[in-house]
Amino acid sequence: MEKLQNFINGFFCDPVEGKYIDNWEPATGTVYSQIPNSGPKDVENAVAAAHEAFPMWSSMGAQKRGEIMRRISEGIERRREEFAMAESRDNGKPLQLARAVDIPRAVSNFHFFATAVEHFAAESHHMEGTGINYTLRKPIGIVGCISPWNLPLYLFSWKIAPALATGNCVVAKPSEVTPYTAYLLGEVIKESGMPPGVLNILHGEGGTAGDAIVKHPQIKAISFTGGTNTGEYIARTAAPMFKKLSLELGGKNPNIIFADCDFDDMLSTTLRSSFANQGQICLCGSRIFVERPIYEKFREAFVKRVDETVVSYPDDPHAKMGALVSKAHLEKVCSYIELAKEEGGTVLSGGVRVEMPEPYQNGYYLRPTVIEGLRYDCRTNQEEIFGPVVTITPFDTEEEVLIMANSTPYGLSATLWTSDLKRAHRMAEKIESGIVWINAWLVRDLRTPFGGMKASGVGREGGWEALRFFTEPKNVFVKY
Ligand code: NDP
Repeated sequence: MEKLQNFINGFFCDPVEGKYIDNWEPATGTVYSQIPNSGPKDVENAVAAAHEAFPMWSSMGAQKRGEIMRRISEGIERRREEFAMAESRDNGKPLQLARAVDIPRAVSNFHFFATAVEHFAAESHHMEGTGINYTLRKPIGIVGCISPWNLPLYLFSWKIAPALATGNCVVAKPSEVTPYTAYLLGEVIKESGMPPGVLNILHGEGGTAGDAIVKHPQIKAISFTGGTNTGEYIARTAAPMFKKLSLELGGKNPNIIFADCDFDDMLSTTLRSSFANQGQICLCGSRIFVERPIYEKFREAFVKRVDETVVSYPDDPHAKMGALVSKAHLEKVCSYIELAKEEGGTVLSGGVRVEMPEPYQNGYYLRPTVIEGLRYDCRTNQEEIFGPVVTITPFDTEEEVLIMANSTPYGLSATLWTSDLKRAHRMAEKIESGIVWINAWLVRDLRTPFGGMKASGVGREGGWEALRFFTEPKNVFVKY
């Protein structure tokens, strides 16, 4: 069975303690490779390599660093089919999705930040008659990047690229559940001419390898994307060490549909915003609020489309949904469907596992699920499920839907459907979330601030926000 390796100091290597963990294929429910179960000693080696590389990488200049990063982008692009197949196999997502979204976005992330950093400038503040302040933005040093399993290479590269572009050296850990494309990235890095030690990729469990990254005193900043509970633990651990923190956490996003929307556009987009990537995107709209005059029409049309959605093995070209990422996650999602029933909800579509032919009979397939009849403040409507489960709820007024939309501890993203421009702006201003899409979903411009408020995170990624996070500003005053 294939054994993946860590990538430290420009070389692939085994974990110091020689321990491995199984890597499962969600489509078949079988183990197909093993990954290093890294611990503090591996992190120590990665930090030592990063420490050695930092003076040269940080003083190389943005243009040269950008050239190397563009080669990484091109290296992924050249092997995009291999990367897409690996991502789909590791995660269970349809191959078409990995081809169309995950891998192109990883290519763009490296390219975008390689070029963005060349346009990045620091502030200067003139004090008339007195002197001038200018801001130096220096790399932080060694930074830790920890990413989740839902969009593996997409989110891994979204952190690593700005960290590298600004001259930092990186110790990075992908989710143990989806390690494969991060492993392949090591091969691309090797070929790109990136100096050894600049980017080190460790595999292993969050509680050991991840924890050792968070606690290492020489790692000065942590960029983390994952669950709110993990984020809370990381904040509690890293804050007393005065580490810089960027936390992109969970969501429970509202999708608010007014009667005056473009119904067909709304319907097909809502199908995607509910169930794309098996509902395992932090930006999916899991609470659908529909203005009462079109509630019945929406329910009928939506349930029909959901009933028709093809759930199949990832490389079936007809698959709109594949397998959930793991057995444990499938069980968690199913437990929420049971909870919804206990809370008085009615399952209108789905709610059941999918019987698949050999060799997929043990895979983690679940029908997309639509539930109605729940109070907006019940657990099903307050807690993040992170799977193909949505609730639908009617509303009568803007005020009422705002109360319901803003009622959760989360505040990541929201979607609004209306043709009334004034209402759209009014609502966008009042919704408690870091991102609002109006008559659209998941349209991303990499320059915009990305992230959530409340329990959805601290700080923003994207564009200048990311470049600012990964640099330390220093004000210098010069007297006239
Ligand atoms: P987790 O919080 O379980 O894990 C995220 C990463 O943190 C993984 O690499 C994990 O390793 C690691 N980790 C776990 N425990 C620790 C620890 N104690 N110290 C350091 N690292 C640790 O999240 P999931 O992987 O389950 O991802 C799903 C979550 O991510 C959802 O809540 C989702 O909303 C959120 N998310 C947020 C996004 C955003 O931009 N706001 C985008 C995408 C997802 P391991 O896998 O080995 O446990």
